[in-house]
Amino acid sequence: MIWRMSSLFLRTLREDPADAEVPSHKLLVRGGYVRRVAPGIYSWLPLGKQVLENVTRVVREEMDRMGGQEVQFPALLPREYYEATGRWTEYGDNLFRLQDRRGNDYLLGPTHEEMFTDMVKSEVSSYKDLPVTLYQIQTKYRDEARPRAGILRGREFLMKDSYSFDLDDDGLKHSYAEHRDTYIRIFDRLGIKYKIVSAVSGAMGGSASEEFLATAPTGEDTYVACHNCGYAANVEAVETAVAAPQDAAAQPALRVLDTPDTPTIDSLVTVVSALGIEITAKDTLKNVVVKVRYPGVKEPKVLIVGLPGDREVDLKRLEAAVAPGEVEMFEAEDFAKHPKLVRGYIGPVGLKEAGYEYLVDPRVAVGSAWVTGANEAGKHVAYAVAGRDFDIEGTVEAAEVRAGDVCPRCAHELSIDRGIEIGHIFQLGRKYADAAKLDVLGKDGKPVRVTMGSYGVGVSRAVAVLAEQLHDELGLVWPREVAPADVHIVAAGKDPAIYETANRYAEELGARGVRVLYDDRVGSVSPGVKFKDAELIGVPTIVVVGRNLADGVVEVRDRQTGEKAEVAVPDLVEHVYALARG
Ligand code: ATP
Ligand code: MG
Repeated sequence: MIWRMSSLFLRTLREDPADAEVPSHKLLVRGGYVRRVAPGIYSWLPLGKQVLENVTRVVREEMDRMGGQEVQFPALLPREYYEATGRWTEYGDNLFRLQDRRGNDYLLGPTHEEMFTDMVKSEVSSYKDLPVTLYQIQTKYRDEARPRAGILRGREFLMKDSYSFDLDDDGLKHSYAEHRDTYIRIFDRLGIKYKIVSAVSGAMGGSASEEFLATAPTGEDTYVACHNCGYAANVEAVETAVAAPQDAAAQPALRVLDTPDTPTIDSLVTVVSALGIEITAKDTLKNVVVKVRYPGVKEPKVLIVGLPGDREVDLKRLEAAVAPGEVEMFEAEDFAKHPKLVRGYIGPVGLKEAGYEYLVDPRVAVGSAWVTGANEAGKHVAYAVAGRDFDIEGTVEAAEVRAGDVCPRCAHELSIDRGIEIGHIFQLGRKYADAAKLDVLGKDGKPVRVTMGSYGVGVSRAVAVLAEQLHDELGLVWPREVAPADVHIVAAGKDPAIYETANRYAEELGARGVRVLYDDRVGSVSPGVKFKDAELIGVPTIVVVGRNLADGVVEVRDRQTGEKAEVAVPDLVEHVYALARG
């Protein structure tokens, strides 16, 4: 394959796109890989399409190697399949719903558990047909609330999704383990740096669901790791130990305090300490009001979360805790409708009686005493004791997780980092099989309910993740496996001999199966511009055919290390061929 820049459908940009915040978005647009069509919807230009194909190929090869069988479902799906499992409603606003000309409801598939389950049900009847793993590499649609960062979070994106079907729990565990190994091979081959973290509640430390998070400071996911016991989990899955009960009888009586102008925890601590009750932020109980919107329910529910005043609410953790509910902020107009909730002075005493749901952070022990709002402007209470002065209806994991928090398994200190979810493996069990009554005839002639796993790789997201992890101030730095080409030949100068030699290289290398990008542009394009483009585009090997051709050498640059070597003119093809073959 030879791409000649004089005719390649490519325009690089010197300026970052105005809407781009993260490096991958800036560089993929500037390098001429993708173009925006609408929020979260992108077109792929030739260079980008090639990288996407390369990632797809790696995923397909590894899925085939593990024995997965590729199929392809439609993206346009009738409502009834998703109605049967409740997800037509449960998916909420994330689902693209549409109607055909007869008024029948359809959706654009966000994920395909229902379709795979149904297909297996109609094609498979005996235990002899199992286990089976089916997969597809297909466009998915989700009306994401916050499409951002270019193709990192799209509303249309390419996903590999696979589903395993087994007769029993051991079978499922085996299928899960095979997927895990396959994902390790895929991401290693792609050259992505990642961490495998638990996506289920920490205390159990189970492996029923794990995420592959590409490490990146711009990542939307936060995970904790324990360097003592190896525990690693998405913060959404971290479980806080419930604090041991304290003796309520030993606490002083509830006391109302005048605390004007204490809208913040800091100001409250100062005022209360001045009243002779020595406290820190940790001793205050902060009460945060949110609205939780459940799919299919018109009015959002008001939820009040109590947590120690030195912690913030982590909306993603709260949202994971109330899923499939979506959390919305409680705005000024909401306060206006709820006069009992006095902004800045909300407290738990009397909340239940007023009809509000009140949940606390697990650190709030039964019998513990707090300084908290009195539900009256300018007033707080001290010695509000959980279980004595107010009821705890339950706990909720909504507080931010911090570096230094204790590991739920071994109580060592946790460290914290950010990542981007590139893969998710999940032991579904019988949820979808139950909904579809997916049985096969067992060895003994009796029906056996099938158990399933579901596994996803963000294929288009992986392209952006690579750009995010592998770039420098000059541009992209692709690993060879996914690079749009193996070699970028730059003809630098005006001398026709330069173009003759460069062209010969391009053709000889192309004929040997090396993927060549050849900058053959003449005239207005200076060598400086060509070098800048080569650095921006990020092909792993750059060959400069230029002035030192007269000395019988050409320059070979390694895009990643920046190292330059001079190679004798006759040796160049062998040299580059060897690099391309690794
Ligand atoms: P996220 O938490 O990032 O929204 P998810 O948990 O909803 O992802 P899954 O349903 O597990 O995603 O989908 C499988 C994989 O598809 C994810 O691991 C991710 O790599 C990819 N993916 C999910 N949503 C998007 C998106 N909006 N754009 C690009 N890739 C996505
Ligand atoms: Mg996921």
